[in-house]
Amino acid sequence: MRVPLIAGNWKMHKTLDEALSFVRYFAENPPGENVEALICAPAPLLYPLADAMKETAVALGAQNMHHAPQGAFTGEISSAMIKDTGASYVILGHSERRQLFAETDASVNLKVTKALEAGITPILCCGESLEEREEGRTGEVVKGQVIKGLEGISEVEVPRVVIAYEPIWAIGTGKTASNGDANEVCAEIRHLIKELYNDEAAATLRILYGGSVKPSTIKGLMAESDIDGALVGGASLEADSFLGLTRF
Ligand code: PGA
Repeated sequence: MRVPLIAGNWKMHKTLDEALSFVRYFAENPPGENVEALICAPAPLLYPLADAMKETAVALGAQNMHHAPQGAFTGEISSAMIKDTGASYVILGHSERRQLFAETDASVNLKVTKALEAGITPILCCGESLEEREEGRTGEVVKGQVIKGLEGISEVEVPRVVIAYEPIWAIGTGKTASNGDANEVCAEIRHLIKELYNDEAAATLRILYGGSVKPSTIKGLMAESDIDGALVGGASLEADSFLGLTRF
């Protein structure tokens, strides 16, 4: 019942020309069937990409958002601005935002709340550092981030949230959690959703794995019980590689 989601996170990559040639590839080479394919692009690319992607089966998302509706927040973008572009997803609380831009669980929670209000699907990111994993604190850290990120979100809204479990030590490093380890944490998150909400929410909400996912590793991950897709950085930048990710 959960449609797999393959989400590319372009981070701060691609000029307009590069982005448009990526999209042209998808007009001719559609993504796999019964999979939702999504590209989360830098903000300046959202309008032109939404226009170019109309002809493709790929959805569009942003990579961050401010929680306020508008105001004196230089450099930020609002939910209404994202919505205007035609994008329907937003990545929130990525570990790079938490580590490099001082985002906290509280600020991420405000953004998740606002995104849902605006009808944008939030991809709430969580994940432990290497140190936390070595100390045996993975479950505690990840669950804490999920609990705080979802604070105040109702059981009606929560199935619309996507959670991305991304161990920080696996992002951009070429190191991946084993399929079993990744699934174990995703299953723990699903169990937490069941405890916080109900069976239906737990059965509906999609949980992605992220961290050095490649076309060669996606099949094994997708065969796991509680992994509903992937959030992919490096391997989403080349069109044929992204396409491979959607055809697992
Ligand atoms: P990676 O990035 O696939 O390059 O490890 C994943 C992410 O940061 O979302």
